[in-house]
Amino acid sequence: MEPSYLKLYRSGELDRRIDSLYSILESCQLCPRGCKKNRLKDEKGYCRSGKDLVVSAIHPHFGEEKPLVGRGGSGTVFLTNCNLGCIYCQNYEISHLGQGRPLTCHELAQGMLWLQNNGCHNINFVTPTHFAPQLVKSIKVAIDKGLRVPIVYNCGGYENVNTIRLLEDIVDIYMPDIKYGDAGNAKKYSHAPDYFDRCTEAVKEMHRQVGNLKLDGHGIAQRGLLIRHLVLPNDIAGSRQVLKFIATEISKDSYLNIMFQYRPMYKAKEYEELNRRPYLSECDKAIDIALELGLHCGFNREYLLRA
Ligand code: SF4
Repeated sequence: MEPSYLKLYRSGELDRRIDSLYSILESCQLCPRGCKKNRLKDEKGYCRSGKDLVVSAIHPHFGEEKPLVGRGGSGTVFLTNCNLGCIYCQNYEISHLGQGRPLTCHELAQGMLWLQNNGCHNINFVTPTHFAPQLVKSIKVAIDKGLRVPIVYNCGGYENVNTIRLLEDIVDIYMPDIKYGDAGNAKKYSHAPDYFDRCTEAVKEMHRQVGNLKLDGHGIAQRGLLIRHLVLPNDIAGSRQVLKFIATEISKDSYLNIMFQYRPMYKAKEYEELNRRPYLSECDKAIDIALELGLHCGFNREYLLRA
């Protein structure tokens, strides 16, 4: 299956999308925070990001979901900073402490081609939201030089649906988190009280664009939606509400990774209710709820043994 971005590239639509995305940076509303900073003048909003891309790491990754990893790995590009403020962030050095270095779009394009040439099955942008314009521009430079693997948008789920609309047929695989089913906890632990509303709006749009996850004959993801949900202790993630949304408003056939690897990191030790790993019984309960709701794809109890 040819990645959809090639059609946009040939028609000139990709250039128009790059212009539209860059124009948002003038008064930034790329994400629901709507900081309205002029990032083209290097002003910085909540995500502490200006006009230049900042990248923490580029490498093949073998720990992502099986349909992304295959034999050659997923070609991950870790973007520095984040539009969310999760106090328990598992990657806080990158997301909150700004670990990384500036790259031009041409340098990133070189990195993407290096991943493709080393056998990676896709380019997996991790935490891309606040750099969407620069990433799409880099994709165009990489297409000029031969990029042909699918693009994965591996995001935290706190998205502006208008930005997601501009990514139609550029992104092949959306991989959003759905972190909370509850406004109070989203506010307290990620400083985003409207998280569930914005996230569910965006995930519906993602699903409209790409549908459920489709694999090729070797089990490698080509296009579609892959949802992640991290189980937190004391049901802080509101797993039932999240899973109910997926089953009733997206699809019972959604590919869903229910994740159990939470550990108290960053500032989590200051919150007693977050200062432990989830119990096995809490993980098991999330699986039971998913099965009870008719979800069936992408998770199983064996994961608990590895958690
Ligand atoms: S991407 Fe950054 S600057 Fe733009 S609205 Fe979101 S948090 Fe604010």
